[in-house]
Amino acid sequence: RKISEKHDRVFATGCLNPEEAAKQPRANAAFVVLARNQELEGVVQSLKSIERHFNRWFHYPYVFLNDGDFSEEFISGVQNYTSGKTEFGKIDPSMWGFPDWVDHEVAKEGINKQGDAVIMYGGMESYHHMCRFYSGFFYKHELLEKYEWYWRLEPEIKYFCDITYDPFVEMARNNKTYGFTIAVKELKETVPNIFRYAAAYKRKYKVNSQGLWEMFLEPQPEQTKETEDTREKTIPNVILETEAGHQNIPEIDPDNMEGEKYNMCHFWSNFEIARLDWFRSQEYNDFFNMMDRSGGFWMERWGDAPIHSLAAGALLAPKDIHYFRDFGYRHTTIQHCPANAPARQSPNIPYLEKTTLNEKERIEEDEYWATANLDPPKENGVGCR
Ligand code: GDP
Ligand code: MN
Repeated sequence: RKISEKHDRVFATGCLNPEEAAKQPRANAAFVVLARNQELEGVVQSLKSIERHFNRWFHYPYVFLNDGDFSEEFISGVQNYTSGKTEFGKIDPSMWGFPDWVDHEVAKEGINKQGDAVIMYGGMESYHHMCRFYSGFFYKHELLEKYEWYWRLEPEIKYFCDITYDPFVEMARNNKTYGFTIAVKELKETVPNIFRYAAAYKRKYKVNSQGLWEMFLEPQPEQTKETEDTREKTIPNVILETEAGHQNIPEIDPDNMEGEKYNMCHFWSNFEIARLDWFRSQEYNDFFNMMDRSGGFWMERWGDAPIHSLAAGALLAPKDIHYFRDFGYRHTTIQHCPANAPARQSPNIPYLEKTTLNEKERIEEDEYWATANLDPPKENGVGCR
């Protein structure tokens, strides 16, 4: 909370006139939608929502990506609901699936074990590939080359409020790199070793964090000089030096890593508005490569959300991050609702909200938003609901 208020302000309060805002020049930006043909219906739901609440005024283009071929049905299906230009891209196998340097059998075995352990999506090979694609490759796709900014859109999401200004333009004007709507805690069993590698990256590349790293740390009791010294000796300088990667995740007590422990907090990446050049930077790619070589995308089920978040923690400052606290947004059972957001904030972790809804609460929230009149619709039909 302190971090967000000190370094980051809401871009606009209340509803502006989007038709006025849309007279300004656009940013060099696009929506990015990764999807499979069978997700058409969910994608259309998301398109209807973003068009109704934003893109009917701003007409940003869409880039649809798929590891397979999009069907004619999918292409014409989404084009019925998009007011901006659409492009459809196939993802090259070099960006999806197991790379040459990994033993495919070992990786598959690792994935099967996670399935046996009932880790969420752990046994689903395609999900691992999707997470790795969104961690280290989407920004290299040829259809994104010409863009400076992207806004990630997933199937079956919902925006509740009209977005009456151009968030890309505001991100640029305010010198922001990465924007989010929801921060939540990751399922521990999907990332048992992720933090050790992220911390090892910081040491190996001598990265001095700029204050955001602390957001991802469990609060620590005051340490005595003595315990710090002991810790120093038990930490290897670089954990990962072998290219064999996945077979060599060393068993080191994560609690002994510089005395730092990951609090599992991460920006939920199914929504993101961010600068592509940050992902394309040498620093980010060094980070991704080091994480990748560990094999954690297969031997564990690292999501792209904690990857993006820990990279941000290592490489960005709080002032580079924007919390879109004014966007009403839902993905499956978790949502951010601007009306009551402050009350939901956790005092310990800036940004973190309690946002999980059960079915009954979800229906209640839907009814609430259907009737709420927080900011009465203006003549042009704009309203925050
Ligand atoms: P969740 O949000 O973590 O429950 O995961 P999703 O199933 O929504 O997947 C995240 C995103 O990746 C969505 O945009 C999906 O459409 C997309 N996605 C997941 N798996 C695949 C896949 O195997 N192929 C393609 N083309 N897209 C996928
Ligand atoms: Mn999803």
